[in-house]
Amino acid sequence: MPKNLNANHIKDYLVVVGGGAAGFFGAIACAQACIAKKVILLEKNRQLLSKVRISGGGRCNVTHACFDPVALVKNYPRGSQALLGPFTRFQPRDTIQWFKDRHVELKVEEDGRLFPLTDDSATIIDCLMRAAKAAHVEVRTESGIEKIEVQSAGFVIHLTNGSVVECKKLLFATGSNSKMYELLAALGHQIVPPVPSLFTFNVPNSPLLDLAGMSISNVGLRIQHTDLKQTGPLLLTHWGFSGPAVLKLSAWGARILHGMNYQATLVVNWLPEMNKETLAACLGNYKVKNPAKLISSDSPVALPKNLWKKLTIMAGIPYDMRCSYLSKVHLNALLELLQNSTFNIQGKTIFKEEFVTCGGVHLDDVNFKTMESKKCPGLFFAGEVLDIDGVTGGFNFQNAWTTGWIAGQAMAKD
Ligand SMILES: Cc1cc2nc3c(=O)[nH]c(=O)nc-3n(C[C@H](O)[C@H](O)[C@H](O)COP(=O)(O)OP(=O)(O)OC[C@H]3O[C@@H](n4cnc5c(N)ncnc54)[C@H](O)[C@@H]3O)c2cc1C
Repeated sequence: MPKNLNANHIKDYLVVVGGGAAGFFGAIACAQACIAKKVILLEKNRQLLSKVRISGGGRCNVTHACFDPVALVKNYPRGSQALLGPFTRFQPRDTIQWFKDRHVELKVEEDGRLFPLTDDSATIIDCLMRAAKAAHVEVRTESGIEKIEVQSAGFVIHLTNGSVVECKKLLFATGSNSKMYELLAALGHQIVPPVPSLFTFNVPNSPLLDLAGMSISNVGLRIQHTDLKQTGPLLLTHWGFSGPAVLKLSAWGARILHGMNYQATLVVNWLPEMNKETLAACLGNYKVKNPAKLISSDSPVALPKNLWKKLTIMAGIPYDMRCSYLSKVHLNALLELLQNSTFNIQGKTIFKEEFVTCGGVHLDDVNFKTMESKKCPGLFFAGEVLDIDGVTGGFNFQNAWTTGWIAGQAMAKD
C-alpha cells in the first residue's frame, strides 16, 4: 500500500480529523504528550463540538458512575470485549479527574449519569476549547477532508477548501459519516453497515396513547419471535413507548429491529417481579375481599390507577363491573394481559436526548492498545467512527474520551 514519496517530503505533523468529543480529546492528549510536534485538528463544519452542545438535552451527560471496567463494558451492545483493555487505562474515574483538573466539577444523578455542575453543555465545550488552546492544538474549521494519499512516510490530506495538509500520523474521529466510511474502506478497512441505535417505539394504535407522560418503574419487555428482552422503567408517550427499558432494547436489538424494518410485536409484562401464581392469588384475594368494589376503581397491584383501568377495559371487562361478578374468564384475561400485553410496533422515533449509530470500522481492523489501524499503519481511530456504541447514560461519550485519549497518547510516541 505505501508508495513512493521520500520521508523528508512529509511534514512531521500529527493530524486529527473531526472536531467532536473524540477528536478534541485525542488532539489534546496528543499535543500534551508531545509538545515538540504540531497537532492540527481539522473540522469540516464551522461549528466545533456540535453534538456535545445538544447532548443530554443541552446538559451533556459526560459519563456514567460505573468504575469497574468489567461492569462498564456490559453497557456496550457493540464493542464490549474490545473496550475492556482501554477501560483499564482510561475510565469514568479518569474522565471525572480530567475535567476536575481543568476546573470542571461533575455531579452524579441518582441513576448514575454524570453532568457538569452547571447543567450546561457549554461548560464542557469551553473546557475542551480552553484545553486545546493551552496545548497549542491548531484548530482549523471549514476544513473537511476529501481525499487521502497514503505515502511511505505518512499521509497527504486533500481538503474540500482546496488546501493540502501533510502528516506522519492521522487520527480519524469523524463519527458516523458515510463519505468517510467509503474513504476508509478504500484504505482496506471493513465497514460494518451503519444503522441507528437508541430509539423509541411508534405504536400508533396503542390504546395507551392518552396516558402519555405516565411512567412505570419496572416492566419486562420482549420482542416476539426474537431473543430480545429487557427490564426497567417504561415511559408511555403520545406516539408509543419510550424510557430506559425501550432505549436499552433498541440498542441491543438495533440490527435485528432494522432487519425487521421496525415492524414487530412488543410483549409487555407489567409486573415482572410477580409470577403467574402470586399474581393469580393476588387478583383472587382482591375479588374476595372487595366484592362490592368496581374492578376499575382501584389498582390491586403496583400499577398507576389509570393504567389499571385501561388494562381492565383491554381485558374486556366492563368498567362498572363489581368484583364479585368477575368470572374465571375475566380473571384469566386480566392475568394474561398483565403478563403478556402485546403492541404492534410500526416504526421508530429518534430519541432526542441521545442517539447514536451502530456500525462503523470493524473492530478486528484495530489494535485497541493504541487504536491504530491494522490495515494502514500510522492511521488511528477514536469515537463513533468505530463499530462501538453504548446504551444511554453517558457511555457513548466515555467511549469517545477513552479511545480519543489512547489514540492521542499512542500517536505522540515516536
Ligand atoms: C442529540 C444527541 C444527544 C446525545 N447525548 C449524549 C449524552 O448526553 N451522553 C453521551 O454519552 N452521548 C450522547 N450522544 C452520543 C454522542 O454525542 C456521540 O457518541 C459522540 O458525540 C461521538 O463523538 P465523536 O467525536 O466520535 O463523533 P462526532 O461527535 O459525530 O464528531 C465527529 C466530527 O467529525 C466531523 N467530520 C465528519 N466528516 C469530516 C470530514 N470529512 N472532515 C472533517 N471533519 C469531519 C463532524 O463534522 C463532527 O464534528 C448524543 C448524541 C446525539 C445525537
